[in-house]
Amino acid sequence: MAVVVQKYGGSSVATLEKIKAVASKISKRREKGDKVVVVVSAMGDTTDSLINMANSLNTNPDKRELDMLISTGEQVSISLMSMALQNEGCESVSLTGMQAGIQTKGFHSKARIEDIDLTNLKNHLSEDKVVVVAGFQGVNNNGDITTLGRGGSDTTAVALAAKLDCDCEIYTDVDGIYTVDPRLFPTARKLKSICYEEMLEMASLGAGVMETRSVEIAQKYGVKVYVALNTGEWEGTYIKESDNTMESKAITGLSLSDKDLMVTIDNVRYDIQNISYIFNELASKDINIDMISQTAPAGGHVSLSFTAPKTDEKIILDILENVEKKIGNINVEIEKDITKLSVVGIGMRSQSGVAAKVFDILARNNIQFKQVTTSEIRISYTIDTKDRQRALEAVANEFNL
Ligand code: ADP
Ligand code: ASP
Ligand code: MG
Repeated sequence: MAVVVQKYGGSSVATLEKIKAVASKISKRREKGDKVVVVVSAMGDTTDSLINMANSLNTNPDKRELDMLISTGEQVSISLMSMALQNEGCESVSLTGMQAGIQTKGFHSKARIEDIDLTNLKNHLSEDKVVVVAGFQGVNNNGDITTLGRGGSDTTAVALAAKLDCDCEIYTDVDGIYTVDPRLFPTARKLKSICYEEMLEMASLGAGVMETRSVEIAQKYGVKVYVALNTGEWEGTYIKESDNTMESKAITGLSLSDKDLMVTIDNVRYDIQNISYIFNELASKDINIDMISQTAPAGGHVSLSFTAPKTDEKIILDILENVEKKIGNINVEIEKDITKLSVVGIGMRSQSGVAAKVFDILARNNIQFKQVTTSEIRISYTIDTKDRQRALEAVANEFNL
């Protein structure tokens, strides 16, 4: 008898009909003798609607109150799912993040799971119930409800699987992980498997099918993750340790992200203390900086550019306003119409020339880029958003993705 964690995302529980269908699938799995922990997201676009409601009352809602609000979406889903399971004759219980022992630390709206106290959950499992846990939420040291960042139900599911030492199945509206988001590039290929490192890069660079932190946890604790269609039809994709067969191609996948903006700070007096001060101030507020570039010093000054999440725009501007008081006159410019295009593959470790080939493709298609960064297994380019589809198609076609 195996324990398994199954996660159903917002589109899989968007209507009562869908909840019924998922409940029937879960109940069949339990009849086979498995112990099932189910993690669910809020129904459909509920989280977006709740955020819109908050913003229409207050342009800068308090993050504690916002977490209190948006965590309710999952509470609706767990109770409905549990009722649907009971209707199938399947014993079940719903648990909020707090009741499931999910302890978090860090900032509201991007809290991290610190530990999970499984006592309550295990008691219910031992009574042979399906345990339905609210994704995306936990509780911090102050006893306040926190959320884990958008898409955070994946993180809840993988963290529970890590703690329970079992496999994790992610059911969604796509039948596996593709080389490129199939909504953007319909001829993309489905991958049988992808290694943690590649999935981590793909996710952090825009492949929203898995939330980044969930992949980090899967890699750290060696959780085997299976991503498949919510109806259970067709074979999905395994996320696991790399093996020799995975390195034959230089590029495994391509991700696009429109989630970042580019900040350029001109007129920074060229002094490492200043530059370190700027990035430390941003880090102290948990701003996730990705691409950084700096011009050569001219007249004792440099210009710095970096990318960061669009959702952090306000806080970045506040931080830089304070920075200016300390390091003197600077000029801050924000560009929002940028897209990050990244190619990812562990094959890049042993095969060279990928960056050159992408430069060539961009040049032939007359697509300008603003920044490039590389790691051992990925190369990212920032381009104008107007060029995103052209760039994606050109690169995906030439690499046979
Ligand atoms: P859920 O609500 O189940 O969490 P998401 O919308 O978060 O679902 O994730 C599923 C979506 O991820 C798919 O509809 C697909 O468009 C998108 N996606 C992005 N990149 C990829 C990829 N490389 N492979 C598969 N799906 C991807
Ligand atoms: N409901 C949350 C969101 O929309 C969490 C999730 O779906 O994973 O971001
Ligand atoms: Mg998701």
